[in-house]
Amino acid sequence: MSAKKFVYFFGNGKAEGDGKDKNLLGGKGAGLAEMTNLGIPVPPGFTITTEACIEYQKKHGYPEGMWEQTLEAMKKLEEAVGKNFGSTENPLLVSVRSGARVSMPGMMDTVLNLGLNDETVKGLAKASGNERFAYDSYRRFIQMFGDVVLGVDHHKFEKVLRKMKQDRNVESDTELNAEDLKQLVAEYKKIVEDETGKPFPQDTTKQLEFAINAVFNSWDNQRAKTYRKLNKIPDDWGTAVNIVAMVFGNMGDDCGTGVAFTRNPSTGEKEFFGEFLINAQGEDVVAGIRTPEPIARLKDEMPEVFAQLEDVYKKLETHYKDMQDIEFTVERKKLYMLQTRSGKRTAKAAVKIAYDMFKEGLIDKKTAVLRVLPEQVDQLLHPMIDPKEKYATIAKGLPASPGAAVGKVVFSAEDAEKMAAAGEKVILVRNETSPEDIGGMHASEGILTATGGMTSHAAVVARGMGKCCVAGCGALKIDEAKKVFTVGDNVVKEGDFITINGSTGEVILGKVTLIEPELSGEFAEILKWADEFRTLGVRTNADTPHDSKIARDFGAEGIGLCRTEHMFFDGDRIDAVREMILAENEEGRRRALEKVKPYQKEDFIGIFKAMDGLPVTIRLLDPPLHEFIPHTDEDIQKVADASGIPFDRLQKKAEELKEFNPMLGHRGCRLGITFPEIYEMQVYAIMEAACKVKKEGVKVLPEIMIPLVGHFKELSILKEMVNRVAEEVMNSYNDKIEYLVGTMIELPRAALTADEIAEYAEFFSFGTNDLTQTTLGLSRDDSGKFLPEYVDKGIYKEDPFVSIDVSGVGQLVELGVTKGRKTRPNLKTGICGEHGGDPESIYFCQKVGLNYVSCSPYRVPVARLAAAHAALKNI
Ligand code: ADP
Ligand code: MG
Ligand code: MG
Repeated sequence: MSAKKFVYFFGNGKAEGDGKDKNLLGGKGAGLAEMTNLGIPVPPGFTITTEACIEYQKKHGYPEGMWEQTLEAMKKLEEAVGKNFGSTENPLLVSVRSGARVSMPGMMDTVLNLGLNDETVKGLAKASGNERFAYDSYRRFIQMFGDVVLGVDHHKFEKVLRKMKQDRNVESDTELNAEDLKQLVAEYKKIVEDETGKPFPQDTTKQLEFAINAVFNSWDNQRAKTYRKLNKIPDDWGTAVNIVAMVFGNMGDDCGTGVAFTRNPSTGEKEFFGEFLINAQGEDVVAGIRTPEPIARLKDEMPEVFAQLEDVYKKLETHYKDMQDIEFTVERKKLYMLQTRSGKRTAKAAVKIAYDMFKEGLIDKKTAVLRVLPEQVDQLLHPMIDPKEKYATIAKGLPASPGAAVGKVVFSAEDAEKMAAAGEKVILVRNETSPEDIGGMHASEGILTATGGMTSHAAVVARGMGKCCVAGCGALKIDEAKKVFTVGDNVVKEGDFITINGSTGEVILGKVTLIEPELSGEFAEILKWADEFRTLGVRTNADTPHDSKIARDFGAEGIGLCRTEHMFFDGDRIDAVREMILAENEEGRRRALEKVKPYQKEDFIGIFKAMDGLPVTIRLLDPPLHEFIPHTDEDIQKVADASGIPFDRLQKKAEELKEFNPMLGHRGCRLGITFPEIYEMQVYAIMEAACKVKKEGVKVLPEIMIPLVGHFKELSILKEMVNRVAEEVMNSYNDKIEYLVGTMIELPRAALTADEIAEYAEFFSFGTNDLTQTTLGLSRDDSGKFLPEYVDKGIYKEDPFVSIDVSGVGQLVELGVTKGRKTRPNLKTGICGEHGGDPESIYFCQKVGLNYVSCSPYRVPVARLAAAHAALKNI
């Protein structure tokens, strides 16, 4: 039986392997094969497959036939190049390069100039007529092989090289002469012998074998394992080994090496972009030994080479239909390509390149949309620090909500509101934030907290508001009473300017220039294309006319969640709300509520106008009563003054209303059941606002949503009330409004009994924040302390408050949809948790057949794109 094929040759314009087969040949090997087949100049060589690597891992040795095939390929390579491996006349040298399916920084570094020893180096000197070059190659080889294969610390070599340069009084290694380099070689060999206890291996075939083993073994080194884990790369992919005939960029001034991108990877501009170094080899360009020159200079220095390169890069881009990241070497004015792969790019570049390539006819619309990653475009939607700025960071916290902000430090929500009202830009600095801080957060440019994680109150609310936030910045010592914070030696007082970068977690002293986000022409265009493909609707979570407008400008097709609690908290309203809660009877409650109603009505009017023609889902009051209870004597006194109820009776009542577990306490529709006046007032406000704006010609589509339903009877009681009030209002306006009544599904019981609930609900909105809390029995605000460790340990693949827990919470969503639609086939379903803006969760929503997702205004473009990806990838 003949052995399996493990070795694929490329050279002389033809490759054995399939240049598309990255799984077998690795990314680098596939690229080399493909370029060879395209007639692009690539030095010949061969690829040992990833399968060989996997088998080697299993049996701790080469699979049968692999070594023989390798030796055969070496023969073929010798013929192709016209040099012999190990020859003392005209030796063949090779590079040994790792290359997995995807490029992996954790893997083995490349070894160049393999095949040199004390004898072959003389042959190389003779054949090239350049002794300096031969010993330069040898010293490079000993260092690389010593470091990468034999495990000798490269600093040891670099130290000797530095000293040599000092002794010779030269700046650059190119100024060392043949004698210097010979001496270096001798010293390097001694280092290897001292460190490994053995002389530097002189047998060139052994060198090859060791290097191949080192590549295979590197698949399982710690660096590579960690990288795989972080990037979710399976352990059984393996790496290929590429053995490539050397071409030399270090033979003199008509040689060199470089790296380039076929378009600008940071702006996306259609311009050839890169760097090169004359008389250099391998990674010298990126290693920072000498300063490389911009690629445009190559045109002046070696016009004929530049012309070849231009030819090649255009050919590659047209062939791959994507921006390529390429590596090349020039040997005596002849160009050789050593690598091509699709280039990494910023969000900005991704958008520009996808757009341009579509316009150039290189790719179709669908491909253009798929080229821009939803996760990535978030970068484009927030103010950023001007990349030209230089600054020093004083501390680093968690990058909790992207974007950057500059402002004066304030330490309380109240001060934030006051200063903002006076026209100042402020940054709210707190140990952590709580629901009472919402107004201050809203007034701030950004939020900085000392404690709390990525899902802390500050982080979640800031993301919802589209404000930047650095959370959990432990280095911050805040003294709220004195209104200062310190970080090490830096003392920052109220009113001092700081800059925070919520995309990186950086905290910076003073003002740094920011640049504004833009839905640039091209980005807006790509999103329109995305809209052509997506089937999921995209709505927004917005509570104010201002946010509604932002979201609409970003393309939201309605409001999926308008929370009404802010309408109770803001400004003076809270006093009336407190009066309502502490009232001793229905009459007192109604009196207090009448004070709140006009505010609510105004808010709804604003929102309906902003969303003219689009549906608006309004959730009736949800948060625990507990959150509205006055804490201070001053606040209680205010209520006493307004209501006429004596102070101590109020104080007692406030005490009684406190809850041990507010999240599971008196909240949501439970409020509506026990204090019907509250919801009634809200429905009056909604319907009156709707009738009023309709008269002005606005198209209103209100959807009234009852939160926290667990039992269908809760909904049936409240729906009756809603319909009664709606009828009454419509009659008094002598008009008809089309409205829906539905519920949030945010308790497991609601999902389990969705068929019963759907008898009454005209729509379901999955409130996956609470549904996650109640399904996992996990409080989001407290989870920051331990959840990161859960994610580290892989218990949850990702924070379940960021990306939906598909196998748990996801099941309930799916069940809710299925059962609900059984009762009511045209049931409208959506999601309004934070998950509505998370691409992975959006793919899930597509899969279970929701009608829409709803997310914070600034994530609407992300959701539009993710929804298109979901539809196009047929998930
Ligand atoms: P990486 O995976 O880190 O990009 P490579 O295997 O591409 O590593 O090697 C790095 C560099 O080494 C290449 O960009 C090229 O400059 C140089 N190199 C690799 N093989 C050869 C070769 N056969 N001849 C000349 N230079 C080579
Ligand atoms: Mg490379
Ligand atoms: Mg909820």
